[in-house]
This record gives sequence, structure tokens and C-alpha cells, in this order.
Amino acid sequence: MITIIGGGPAGIAAALAAARGGERVRIIEGTPRLGGQYWRHLPEEDEERWVGQEKLHDDFQEGYQLRLEVLRHPNIEILFNTHVWHAEIANDQITLNIVRDSNSSQLSTEALILATGAYDRSLPFPGWDIPGVMTAGAAQSLLKGSYVHAGRRVVVAGTGPFLMPVASGLLNDGVAVVGLFEANRISRWIPFTYVVLANFSKVLLARKYMRDFSVHKVKFKRGHAVVRANAGPDGVLRSVTVAKVDRKFKVKMATEREILCDALAISWGFTPDMSIAHNLGIEQHLDVNDGSVVVVVDECQQTSVNQVFAAGEVTGIGGSELAMTEGEIAGMTSARTLGAAWSVEEEEHFKGLVKKRAAQRRFARALSQVYGVQANWMEWLTPETLICRCEEVSIADIQNAVHNLGATNIRSTKLFTRVGMGLCQGRTCSRSVIEILSKESGVNAEVEDHLSAAKRQIVHPISLGMIANSSSVEDSHHNH
Ligand SMILES: Cc1cc2nc3c(=O)[nH]c(=O)nc-3n(C[C@H](O)[C@H](O)[C@H](O)COP(=O)(O)OP(=O)(O)OC[C@H]3O[C@@H](n4cnc5c(N)ncnc54)[C@H](O)[C@@H]3O)c2cc1C
Repeated sequence: MITIIGGGPAGIAAALAAARGGERVRIIEGTPRLGGQYWRHLPEEDEERWVGQEKLHDDFQEGYQLRLEVLRHPNIEILFNTHVWHAEIANDQITLNIVRDSNSSQLSTEALILATGAYDRSLPFPGWDIPGVMTAGAAQSLLKGSYVHAGRRVVVAGTGPFLMPVASGLLNDGVAVVGLFEANRISRWIPFTYVVLANFSKVLLARKYMRDFSVHKVKFKRGHAVVRANAGPDGVLRSVTVAKVDRKFKVKMATEREILCDALAISWGFTPDMSIAHNLGIEQHLDVNDGSVVVVVDECQQTSVNQVFAAGEVTGIGGSELAMTEGEIAGMTSARTLGAAWSVEEEEHFKGLVKKRAAQRRFARALSQVYGVQANWMEWLTPETLICRCEEVSIADIQNAVHNLGATNIRSTKLFTRVGMGLCQGRTCSRSVIEILSKESGVNAEVEDHLSAAKRQIVHPISLGMIANSSSVEDSHHNH
């Protein structure tokens, strides 16, 4: 039995490849459906009506077909609405603690594929906690999954190619996008011209989005950032302040202007979800390109722990196509470690996948260098700007911890301020805190600071009662 945690593009591709190899596969997925962040389309009951129609979201059809293939495969079992809240390994035995319908139980597996993906990276700025400000991922999932519009007049801003599908999706669904702002400049692509040419399908996709913007008369402004969100008398978002920024995100003098809007969808890239990798003691490192903590894998997507593989955004941010290639490799190789034999065609197919992955990783590296978050974002903050929203810790509190209390790293800052100790356990703020600490103390953060900030023993909130009543469901069949 191969267990896959995560039913996104990487998990789906891994499941199909492993099942093709004749293995029994179990997918554990926290949400009620397959598809992950990328294929988050439409409520289940509406799905049938869109099949075959190139409508609303053109990536829907591919995802739909793959999901059906997984759902109908006799070798694949799926535990929906089920979260792995902790994983452990002892004597080469992998045990997963899962929670479903408020019941906790344990199951074991011969091989494991981590395909837990990533979540939105947020940057703090004045007003980011005002109702109406949300991540671009949230705005998109409201639209794709529930046909809900984030607002009537929406500003889309931040950095990265993700801004384009979000703005285009909103526009095509009738929402007024009253501003579209990319903080980095297009000239950053110049050193990567060869990578762009090798991935021409991406250029065509970008052209499609640009056509959407031109049809709807939306100007895509580069070198601009939202540096403040402003509330109206009702405490809800009324406008955003946009400014021109230089290559390091320093605001250019006298360029600020205000745009009236009722929603801001903002994206600063993604953060891989390392929680389960940490539980299992899997080797991780800092991705030199975008500074996030990622799982280390070899050519076969094998991690440092025997029989544990990883695929998709947990090994580095790279998009759904790379996630699927890695997933397929992980599925094939995990099945082989359990005894599946490869035909000559499969050997050849594997070599092709390895080549494809290399090209996709080159593109991913270029993306992370072009759309990096530049250091001067910290200058947008005012002393009262909250950095940790869960525990209401402001930047002034962190500065006080560093300059007056002797905090030197994320651990001591946490103890002095409670930063990162709230509900999200530092998922949202820890990377910003590390960058602020480096700036304030003048000492560059150690790799260990980043690794320790990504550690979370409990992956998903669970009550003590559930742990006490935990049972073993080794052979349970919760399918669908
Ligand atoms: C909010 C958001 C929106 C995005 N939108 C787009 C887009 O429009 N276009 C685009 O090209 N790219 C988009 N991306 C990037 C794209 O989604 C990813 O490249 C791709 O989905 C990665 O696939 P994955 O399988 O690695 O991870 P994901 O798609 O993130 O899938 C991971 C899955 O694992 C599940 N999971 C995680 N932890 C657990 C656990 N402990 N227990 C059980 N289940 C768990 C999650 O519920 C999820 O379904 C988006 C990313 C995010 C974060």
C-alpha cells in the first residue's frame, strides 16, 4: 500500500502512476474533493454542467478528466475530509495520525508520498488586517469554488505570474478590476530569455491574459505596489494607496495615489507546507532561489527517509505542471520500490519525465528570481503595523524585543513577544519576522532559523479528547 497525503496535481499524478504499476494506493485529502489549489473549480453538484464547455476556467477540463480517472480507478482508495495531523516513523514503520469527523485514528503504510502543496505567502503592510484585504489565492478560490466575488471593485496586486489568472478570472466573471499592479519589472526577464523560449506555452498563456486585460481596458502596471490599505468609517476597506517602487521595492517620492475599492487581492508567492516533512525528520533545505524551506529529494523524488517520497510544491514552488511531473515520477518509483517491474517503454518514459522535470525546474527557478520579494518592503511598515495578526504583535514590539530585550533570533523573539504562537503557528508571519529580525539586528538569519520556524508538531488543530479516543483504522474504507 502506498499512501499519498494531498490530492492536488502532484498527488493525483502520483496516484495514477503508482496504480498503473499495480500497487494499491490510498489518497488522504483534507478537503471534500480532489484537485488541490489548482483545480479548485466549482461546487461538486454543478460540475457535470461544465463538462465539454470551455467556459469560466479553461484549465477545468483537464482537471475534471484526471479526477474522474482517479475516482474510478479500482486500485485507488480516497479518504476525503481527512487530515493528517501528525506523522511518525519508528523502526522503518510509518504511522499517520488522521482526523475525520472529529475522530482521530492511526494508520500505517509501506510507502508514503508527501504531496501537501503550498499556501499563500503574505507580507504585512499597513492595513493588511482590514476586512476586504485578502490573499489572491483566497479571492481566486472564492471565485473558482463558489462563484463568489471578492468585491465589486477589486485591486489585484503583489508579484508573480499568479496575479494574471486571478485578475483575468475576476474580469471574465464580470468583476471590475480597478487596478492591477506587479511590483517587479519586466526587464528582470532579460537574463532568462533562453528559458522563456524553451517554455513558449507559458508565453502564449501570458498573451491570453494580456488580451483579457486589453479587452477589459485594464492596465497592467509594473513597478507598482500597494503600500497601504485604508479603512472607511465602517472599518472596512475603502481604498488602497499605490506607489511606484524601485527594483528593491523602495517607494519613489511623490508617486503615491489612492484607488477606491472594496477588495484587495494580494499575492507575494507561495510557501511550501513543511509540517509533515518535519514530523518525519526528513532533510529540508533553504531554496536559494526564493528563500523558502523545501524538502530535499533525489532524482526519483525519494526523500532522506526510506520509503518516503515527495512531489509538488513541497519540493519547491514550481507550478502545477512541474508538480504533476514530480508526482508521476514519485508514483512510478515508489511502486518500483514495492516490487513493480518496469517495461522497456516505462524505463524510456521515466527518462523523458526526468528531462521534462529539468526543463520545468529551470523555468521555476527563473520565475522565482524574476518575481522575488525585495528587501525594502519593510520600509512600507509603520510602528503599529501588526506582523503577527494572531497574537497582535506589531513591528514596534519586535524592534523592542531586539533593541531593548536582547532577542537575537526567532526563538527568543517568540518568547519575548508571542509572535508565531497563535492559531496559525507562524505559518503566515514567521518568514516576515525572520526578515525583520535580520534587518533590525544587522545579522543575517541562519538556515536553522528558517528550518525551525517551519517546524510544527501538530499539523492540524485537534482536541485532547480526540487524541485520547484515537483508534487504529488500518483497513478502513472511507472511500468518497
Ligand atoms: C491558493 C493558491 C491558488 C493557486 N492558484 C493557481 C492558479 O490559478 N493557476 C496556477 O497555475 N497555479 C495556481 N497555484 C499554484 C498551483 O496550485 C500549484 O502549483 C499546484 O496546485 C501544486 O500542486 P500540489 O499538488 O503540489 O499542491 P496543492 O495543489 O496545494 O495540493 C495539496 C493538497 O494537499 C492537501 N493537504 C495538505 N496538507 C494535508 C494534510 N495534512 N492532510 C490532508 N490533506 C492535506 C490539500 O488540501 C491540497 O488539496 C495556486 C496555489 C495556491 C496556494
